[in-house]
Amino acid sequence: MKTIDELLAEGVAGKRVFVRADLNVPLDGTTITDDGRIRAVRPTVSALAAAGARVVVASHLGRPKGAPDPAFSLAPAAARLGELLGSEVAFATDTVGESARATVAALTDGQVAVIENLRFNAGETSKDDTERGAFADQLAELADLYVGDGFGAVHRKHASVFDLPARLPHAAGGLIATEVGVLKKLTEDVARPYAVVLGGAKVSDKLGVIDHLLEKADRILIGGGMAYTFLKAQGHEVGISLLQEDQVPAVQGYLKRAEELGVEFVLPVDVLVAHEFPDLKTKAPAHPTTVAADAIPADQEGLDIGPATRELYAAKLADAATVFWNGPMGVFEHPDYAEGTKAVAQALVDSPAFSVVGGGDSAAAVRILGFDENAFGHISTGGGASLEYLEGKTLPGLAALED
Ligand code: ADP
Ligand code: MG
Repeated sequence: MKTIDELLAEGVAGKRVFVRADLNVPLDGTTITDDGRIRAVRPTVSALAAAGARVVVASHLGRPKGAPDPAFSLAPAAARLGELLGSEVAFATDTVGESARATVAALTDGQVAVIENLRFNAGETSKDDTERGAFADQLAELADLYVGDGFGAVHRKHASVFDLPARLPHAAGGLIATEVGVLKKLTEDVARPYAVVLGGAKVSDKLGVIDHLLEKADRILIGGGMAYTFLKAQGHEVGISLLQEDQVPAVQGYLKRAEELGVEFVLPVDVLVAHEFPDLKTKAPAHPTTVAADAIPADQEGLDIGPATRELYAAKLADAATVFWNGPMGVFEHPDYAEGTKAVAQALVDSPAFSVVGGGDSAAAVRILGFDENAFGHISTGGGASLEYLEGKTLPGLAALED
């Protein structure tokens, strides 16, 4: 994989450099609620600009349906990038159309432009190689060189991630180099005990990684929405909690294998329950009650780990040497359900372990809840990407940068 330093050494002055970034930030209307991903790619963009490149930054944001949708415009992200760079950033209101071509043509050496959301084009995410390739051909016309630095998207076989680097001389950006370096530390010569904390809402995405981590980790702590599938697998009723019934047999298999391998599975011993999902807009008090994990009422749902579990998890993390954490412990967006996530974050801050936080919401949670990013070993910009790496899968966006 060519590094950005090697690319810079070869000289990029006057060259149009396409930077596939991940500017997929959480938005409240047009307000960015967490700019971590933009800050993470800034060094790559500024190094290229300082070396005289004409930088074309591209990204997806959210899940628009292959057509322009103002709710998913990258304009706020472009403005924020400009603030971070301390310079004017041009913005193209389309991706490969007239605006993009004119904006890129108008760039002078050292200037930066952001083009509109890549997913406004159906070709970006198409499963059809020809359709994706045709879109990549159009993107390729905008640039002379390609820098892959959108770590959060490298697990996607998308036009800008996979097909475009095949069409242009390419290198990996600094963010991707850092992220891959950290993930290597979680897979090769891991310092032990190695504890993994998994939570969040995307249960099925995350069950896959357990299979692989069973061979690597010493301890796996489960929280968030996936905890209820585990509790069910142990024979407990979970009321109206998030549940993936079809995964119960797989989970039972994991629990059994963990026992054979001597891997410790730690499940919640108590949870916060309520009759309904909280209102995340008004944040009106939710009045949850604490119940034992094996006594969830039939008409209630679990929305955070309880106080005894917080203490238990903190203790299980205190003596770890390596920790990987993906997925909030509860619906942290509501203050009544943020304590579990806070407790895990605090345990990582207090522990001398090399700690890695992965997952868009987990990373945002850590910052939104007021923790100092520097207190963690690494906060990854990629959720799915880091999970798939840890699963041992080949990531299309990294493979494309290899040759
Ligand atoms: P990440 O982005 O860190 O990978 P996910 O996207 O999987 O994490 O999950 C984050 C979401 O999970 C948050 O929006 C949070 O509200 C939700 N969540 C956590 N615990 C629960 C729960 N018990 N029930 C429903 N949703 C939950
Ligand atoms: Mg998420």
